[in-house]
Amino acid sequence: MTAPLSLSSGLEVLLSTLQNAGDVESTLHILNVLDELLSAGTDRRIHYMISKGGSEALLSALVTTARSFSPNYTLLLPLLHLLAKVGQRDRRIGMKADEAGAVLLTLNLLRKNDQHANRAAACLWVIQVFCSSVSTANLIGENQGLDVIYHLIPHYATTNQHTIKAAIDAFAALLCTKANVCWVVSKGYIFGLLRLYEDWHSNGAQHDAIPIRHSLLRCLHKVTNSTAGRQAFMLHGGIRVLYESTQTCLLGKGLESLVEPSLQLMRKCLPTTPLPLTSDQSAYTFPLPGRAHTVPDIEPEADMRSEASDDDEEAEDNPKPDYDDDLETDLNKLRFLPDPDRPNELLPQYSRLCPELSHDFQELDLSSEPEEGSTASSSSSDDEAVLLNTSSFGSSRRDRRRSSASWDWSTSSSGSHSETEPDTAAASHLKACDFHSDSSILSTSPSFRTMVREARGKAPPGQRGDELDDEEDAEESHHGTMIDTLLERHGVCIPHHEPRLYHAAAAKTKSIPGFSILAFPDFWGHLPPPGHEPMAPRKPNVQRQKVFEDVQRFLNPDDIIDQVVFDLEDSSLQCPSDSLRFYSKFECGNLRKAVQVRRYEYDLILNADANCNQHTQWFYFEVSNMVPSTPYRFNVINCEKSNSQFNYGMQPVLYSVREALEGRPHWVRSGTEICYYRNHYCPARGRRRTTFYTLTFTITFKHSEDVCYLAYHYPYTYSALKANLKLLQRSVDPTKVFFQQQVLCSTLAGNSCPVVTITACPASRSWRDMHQLRNRPYIVLTCRVHPGESNASWVMKGTLEFLCSSEPVAQSLREAFIFKIIPMLNPDGVINGTNRCDLNGEDLNRQWSKPDPVLSPTIYHTKGFLYYLNSIGRTPLVFCDYHGHSRKKNVFLYGCSLKETLWQSGSSVNTMGLKEDPGYRTLPKTLDSIAPAFSFNSCNYLVEKSRSSTARVVVWREMGVLRSYTMESTHNGCDQGIYKGLQTGTRELQEMGLKFCHSLLSLTKDMKALYSTRTINHIDLDHKSHNCFEDDEPPCVEQIEYSTDWPLYNGTDLDSDVNSNMARADEKEEDNDEGHRGGTLSRGSNGQSQQSMKSYLLFPHPMRQTSSEKRSMCNSVSANGQIMS
Ligand SMILES: [Zn+2]
Repeated sequence: MTAPLSLSSGLEVLLSTLQNAGDVESTLHILNVLDELLSAGTDRRIHYMISKGGSEALLSALVTTARSFSPNYTLLLPLLHLLAKVGQRDRRIGMKADEAGAVLLTLNLLRKNDQHANRAAACLWVIQVFCSSVSTANLIGENQGLDVIYHLIPHYATTNQHTIKAAIDAFAALLCTKANVCWVVSKGYIFGLLRLYEDWHSNGAQHDAIPIRHSLLRCLHKVTNSTAGRQAFMLHGGIRVLYESTQTCLLGKGLESLVEPSLQLMRKCLPTTPLPLTSDQSAYTFPLPGRAHTVPDIEPEADMRSEASDDDEEAEDNPKPDYDDDLETDLNKLRFLPDPDRPNELLPQYSRLCPELSHDFQELDLSSEPEEGSTASSSSSDDEAVLLNTSSFGSSRRDRRRSSASWDWSTSSSGSHSETEPDTAAASHLKACDFHSDSSILSTSPSFRTMVREARGKAPPGQRGDELDDEEDAEESHHGTMIDTLLERHGVCIPHHEPRLYHAAAAKTKSIPGFSILAFPDFWGHLPPPGHEPMAPRKPNVQRQKVFEDVQRFLNPDDIIDQVVFDLEDSSLQCPSDSLRFYSKFECGNLRKAVQVRRYEYDLILNADANCNQHTQWFYFEVSNMVPSTPYRFNVINCEKSNSQFNYGMQPVLYSVREALEGRPHWVRSGTEICYYRNHYCPARGRRRTTFYTLTFTITFKHSEDVCYLAYHYPYTYSALKANLKLLQRSVDPTKVFFQQQVLCSTLAGNSCPVVTITACPASRSWRDMHQLRNRPYIVLTCRVHPGESNASWVMKGTLEFLCSSEPVAQSLREAFIFKIIPMLNPDGVINGTNRCDLNGEDLNRQWSKPDPVLSPTIYHTKGFLYYLNSIGRTPLVFCDYHGHSRKKNVFLYGCSLKETLWQSGSSVNTMGLKEDPGYRTLPKTLDSIAPAFSFNSCNYLVEKSRSSTARVVVWREMGVLRSYTMESTHNGCDQGIYKGLQTGTRELQEMGLKFCHSLLSLTKDMKALYSTRTINHIDLDHKSHNCFEDDEPPCVEQIEYSTDWPLYNGTDLDSDVNSNMARADEKEEDNDEGHRGGTLSRGSNGQSQQSMKSYLLFPHPMRQTSSEKRSMCNSVSANGQIMS
């Protein structure tokens, strides 16, 4: 290291000479040399010089020179220029300047030279770089620096624009402190800045003075970071000034660059507007057992809300700065935890959920299984009866608590595999087949209209349904005829869907508001449309256009209709005859309010999750009374996620009743001009520090007299699941397929949570066959813990239908495994249209560590059942929880690996002695090769602290299930494989469910090996794209968030400003200064080659010369000041 030292000594000599130089000549030479050196090559040289005390030397030289009675500007000017260049790369320049006493000195120099354009510019740049320190900026502010500089900014002028720009930039730099911003606001400078902007804009020609306009915008941007600044900005018509100037910018080429910063500024300054709601609390409240009736509107830790994790395994809204910090490094928390969270005595009750282990298959030769529900009436205990009655929730709380805490299955179902499905008063709310299709629906089809009316008239509320035990009864009801007629006339055959069955299932579904209406698509059914649906191309600047429209509302309030046309809580609401009609009071429906903004534009407000005041994202609503072929703009204004696949090609889905009746019963991806961006709304009560986002899309309806449904994603209701399971049960050959549907438990609202067993019946009742059956490994699949992730249900539908099919692979799988499937872990949430939570207002996938038997019964009992399987030595081979992902493309798995987690986290734990079976990688690898939508590269196997209470991690750690996964399916589509560029439809989602089953075959190849523990020899770690906290998208072309800070000043801009000033100085000016400038500061063509030579002189890189060479070169520079050649 002697070479760099001797090299660096050359620089040190230069710097030290600079500080102590007596004569102008040699100081000038040193400055020239330094400038030439620093102007070539990268910033690295400057940083090296800074590390060698370059800033201090320049500051010291500045102070010495400027303090003299008659400062020598021949020297000062290059000194200031160099200081500006070096200072902007020295983060501590502000403090250093303060220490050197250079700050006020520079300000004084500026005062003295305010008529001297080039000198003033040089001072202003230096002041600008000094402002990197807040205290220095304050010091300048306290000494009237802001006023001095502000008064240097003139109205439109054609001369000395570089100095004007330097002044504005210095002014902007000073606005980095609160005190300075306050000063500027109090002095009324915001008004002045706006007028200046207007003036420069209106007088400036097309391409003239764009940098100055940018700099003015930067000042406005900084000053509006304070509330007072924004208020002053609004008060002085800032929005209008910017809006109008931007409109002309859009017309002229070359001014484009001003549009985006202006738009950002407008977005930031639009006054925060509370949502037009009386309360942020969900319109649906549910009295929780053991709690007061109402949940307070404000949460104590409400302000921390945005920190809370969002989608299950999905990225958080505010990504943590360092993902690795979230990785679990405590070995004890990564190791198997064998002790159950409950007494062992509570486990045997779950034996009833393993009927296959006790079933004797006597009927093998005879007939089919007894249908579920056969013992329903006898097993319906008092507790349950009360529970299931929605009208008496309040009175039954105590009973409920007791009932759940002491769950005793032996008395309620005596080991039989029956589903208890008592009918309830709630069911009576459901008027059969009343689609809430407005009576005007399909007036072209009068008979249909009559039917709808008839159906309504004939269904006296509350009188029907006391005891429709199953679908057969429903068919016989007075609505049967109407349904029959409808189906006869318009029905199409949809596999695994039967409208009558759906209706019967829906009649038993219990919702908080007591839904009495079916959404048509759920009843009628959906077929995937023929052909693929490509992702929607994003129109350039679509967001810009939408924001302009939003700004116009503010500027021209008289043009805005602002009329509420739908309110979930006010059914008596009258709306104008020519407005759209909205409705959402049906299963999975979510729309709280619709406000007509313009003739063809509506703001939509989503209902928060039941019993809480957040998590809005999912929507599903009905719309009618449309004018065909007219674009309608819809704005969902209270979305909560910070980004969305809606910015990357995803479209919402639309279902037209009319299309369905014409034989095209499809949910189709629809909508144009889609984008998603942060807006200026805040919660109604204004207390939560919540940021809302607008999802905007435009729909052009095809038909008049139609009823359409719009949803975030393909809906899949609880009633659909129930109907689907019933059909599956009917579809299987009971001599081959053992299919049992049982009730895991009752939910808070009294809905049953189904658990399904699928395996192959034994070939015979021989000991051998029975033994084989009872020793098949278990595979446990769960789904839809998050209600907004309806895609997961479609994947599960694919899994269930495949496992029940007669495909040979399905038969092999049934013969190899016993499947235990809980297809909907959160029925209450799904029914009531929540996005994330259950009725408890909690994310159920954060309850697995210690689930509450009363408040989270489905999780409590799923976990209990898994404990039971463990207790009888039947730990599942695979556990997979199906989810949906709204911010990533493709389908992928999250798994758990102790070693990968420790390695990735950089833990010091020695993993050599740890054993881990790498088998957790088998399924993802297999899926990667067989499932087109699957992406292996998106998978990861890391255990995060923040996910310690999710199903995946708890089942892995506490149940010891090696292959414990979360399967995430995109809401959008794929960016790889044969589906690249396409949005997924239900066909692709169901296919994924099928492929998942296929992949399980890979586990049957060597069953013995599965249970042996092997030492890992090699795992190829592939973490390239594995940070699950990141979006997989490039940044959106338009800002989703409006930035709170202006982009950092670009160093090269200042450099070029400085360089041009230097050139100017050479050409003319400074005429009264003594001495003659040589040509040394202007770099000629031969200067370039000199630079490359000289760079070896002072900087250790590249280090090629011998030390004697270097010494002689350094000497020659410092001795005679001549440039080496
Ligand atoms: Zn999820």
